[in-house]
Amino acid sequence: MERLTILGSTGSIGTQTLDIVRRNPERFHITSLVAHSRWQELAQQAREFEVESVVIGDKSHYRELQEALKDTRIEVMAGSEAIEEVARSYRSDTVVNALVGYAGLHPTYLAIESGKRIALANKETLVVGGDIIMGAAKRKGVEILPIDSEHSAIMQCLEGENRRSIRNLIITCSGGALRNISREELAGVTPEMALKHPQWSMGAKITIDSATLVNKGFEVIEARWLFDIEPERIKVVIHPQSIVHSMVEFTDGSVKAQLGNADMHTPISYALLYPERSKEAMESFSILDYPTLTFAEVDRVKYPALDIAYESLSRGGTAPCTMNGANEVAVAAFLNHKCSYLDIVGAIRYALDNASFEARPTLTTYDEANDEARELAERYLQRR
Ligand code: NAD
Ligand code: MG
Repeated sequence: MERLTILGSTGSIGTQTLDIVRRNPERFHITSLVAHSRWQELAQQAREFEVESVVIGDKSHYRELQEALKDTRIEVMAGSEAIEEVARSYRSDTVVNALVGYAGLHPTYLAIESGKRIALANKETLVVGGDIIMGAAKRKGVEILPIDSEHSAIMQCLEGENRRSIRNLIITCSGGALRNISREELAGVTPEMALKHPQWSMGAKITIDSATLVNKGFEVIEARWLFDIEPERIKVVIHPQSIVHSMVEFTDGSVKAQLGNADMHTPISYALLYPERSKEAMESFSILDYPTLTFAEVDRVKYPALDIAYESLSRGGTAPCTMNGANEVAVAAFLNHKCSYLDIVGAIRYALDNASFEARPTLTTYDEANDEARELAERYLQRR
């Protein structure tokens, strides 16, 4: 039995991870579940999977959760220190990190330091601290298995290959919710418009990141660290059908692609069951349903965030952390109708241009850079 801790169990990735566990009861036992505020759902999950402990990130729901589980032996905890405690607990073998945003960084690091396998959905971990995280994983001999579909695809394409044979990684991009909207119309985009992702049903933050292409920029940074490859050799192409999840081009001119339905159960099960595969496909895939697969260049004027991500990556140090922190503030403001769509990239640009820079950050430096980026983004948005 592999013992799992799931961080972010009530979210989009979290609930789909629970589906995989349900289908493989002989393989997995869940020791801890973590969520931010949806305590009723968390309590229900805790009962169903007979877990040992639960953590509610938002401490104001501690009492309610405790009350809801008082007839059980499940330990109830709250707050970020408790999340860190379960992330490094000796009681689990694998930590599935499906938290959103910067909040995922420390738990990932602590889980690696405690020698756990990591199934990583929280890409912000690698965007902010890829260098430190991959260094720690190497030192500890810990595997980091990506859940992000593009990185799962690349990992699958690289199975059995020699690293020296890689020429380029080609990350596909659906184009997000605004792909049929012109550059001129972007100023009037509402959260409701940006939340309508054409292919994937995901949490609100990543759906907005997909509309701005911040998500794709983050995936470039994520790939840079996961596969230890220079940014110049990571390409992005628009692929509106979301059937080819990404590709690898090799030195002999051969290109491998991984295809499948746009269903996160597949990459989640690949990460959890690796090196085995799930016996049952969620829904079988027929290439005949997709006689036309198309590919196109990204419009870099309409989507400046992609180049900003490459720029942050080449500056290195705290720059990607600054980009991430400012983005988190701006996306939350946009979702609350407090700023316009174009302010998201505006806030990122402002933060990167005004933040202090540290070339060799530690985890503490990241905390400071994240706080500074958030303050800068707030200042930018207040001035608007
Ligand atoms: P979501 O908003 O649906 O769920 C997030 C989960 O994390 C929830 O359970 C929430 O309670 C919890 N959480 C968030 N902040 C927390 C905090 N501070 N403390 C404790 N718990 C907290 O998000 P999601 O779409 O599942 O995305 C999760 C991560 O996976 C993100 O990093 C996202 O970029 C990545 N990802 C998601 C998808 C997808 O299909 N949803 C695909 C690829 C990558
Ligand atoms: Mg992705």
